[in-house]
Amino acid sequence: MFVDSHCHLDFPDLASRLDELLARMRENDVSHALCVSVNLQDFPRVRALAENHPNLYASVGVHPDYENLAEPQAAQLASLADHPKVVAIGETGLDYFRLKGDLEWQRERFRQHIRAARQCSKPLIIHTREAAADTLRIMAEEGADKVGGVMHCFTESWEVARQAMEMNFYISFSGIVTFKNAVALKDVARRISLDRVLIETDSPYLAPVPHRGKTNEPAFVRNVAEEIAALRSIPIEEVGRITTHNFFNLFKAA
Ligand SMILES: [Zn+2]
Ligand SMILES: [Zn+2]
Repeated sequence: MFVDSHCHLDFPDLASRLDELLARMRENDVSHALCVSVNLQDFPRVRALAENHPNLYASVGVHPDYENLAEPQAAQLASLADHPKVVAIGETGLDYFRLKGDLEWQRERFRQHIRAARQCSKPLIIHTREAAADTLRIMAEEGADKVGGVMHCFTESWEVARQAMEMNFYISFSGIVTFKNAVALKDVARRISLDRVLIETDSPYLAPVPHRGKTNEPAFVRNVAEEIAALRSIPIEEVGRITTHNFFNLFKAA
């Protein structure tokens, strides 16, 4: 069995085909998926997915790429997370690739999310792009290690992985690890202890080989597991078993 630890099933291209996607998860032994919130306006739809399907979970948070929103406050996020199927705070973090200029608001928003996670004792889902040093620094300053979480769609160096793991974080591999040119990332996937690894699709983005270019979906998390198994020369069942165990251990999902 496999779990997709990060997808966006509330996005229109996926939401309109939900039954088909759930069926394909079953056919591919993908037992569960975590539907990750990107803004508070759409959060009720994310939460509804988790309420209506026993094998779907939700998170609550505001993605760093969403500009010009009412800034979420820690207490507000923590209170929205007070729900049995809302298992994490995020996605949150820093993205210096998509947005430029004075991004102090992004860093402040990230701090609010870490404080919320500490208030409600739920783990963090962290997105970081071209901002690893600031991400790690703010994690340390705000005590993110008290709650832990996951560095989602990981594309950074071994050194960044190591520092995140020291702060109680898991490393989640997406379809990017299947891409031919992802040489350094494949190396991280070979080297890391499997008991710190999660797998994800980040659907609808970043479909893994051999589906590259198509709309991604949770069933394709199997291809991510397959790649990690091949890189480590171990059976795919072992990758499935350990990453599923890690998912339930981190998110305390029931
Ligand atoms: Zn992300
Ligand atoms: Zn995402």
